[in-house]
Amino acid sequence: MKHEHEHQHDQHNHYGSHDGHGGHEQHHHEPPTGATDLVTCPVMPSNKVDTAWAEQRGLFRDYDGTRYWFCCADCGPLFDADPARYARAA
Ligand SMILES: [Zn+2]
Repeated sequence: MKHEHEHQHDQHNHYGSHDGHGGHEQHHHEPPTGATDLVTCPVMPSNKVDTAWAEQRGLFRDYDGTRYWFCCADCGPLFDADPARYARAA
């Protein structure tokens, strides 16, 4: 049995070896919006609202055939004050 040992480590040029980097896998497999029903609060668009959560608290309105959910108790009255504006923004 012959065991040749010719690894030639010295031939490892450093230029051009940048493509040995293909395994950029991130293990963040967060489900997109869909696991829970997340919508954007029409009054405070920077906030996401879990629709089930909001409905439990009465933080929603049906306006013009569409339901809107709010991120907090403050948003309900704000929406009521000018529903068309927020409905359009949503
Ligand atoms: Zn809010």
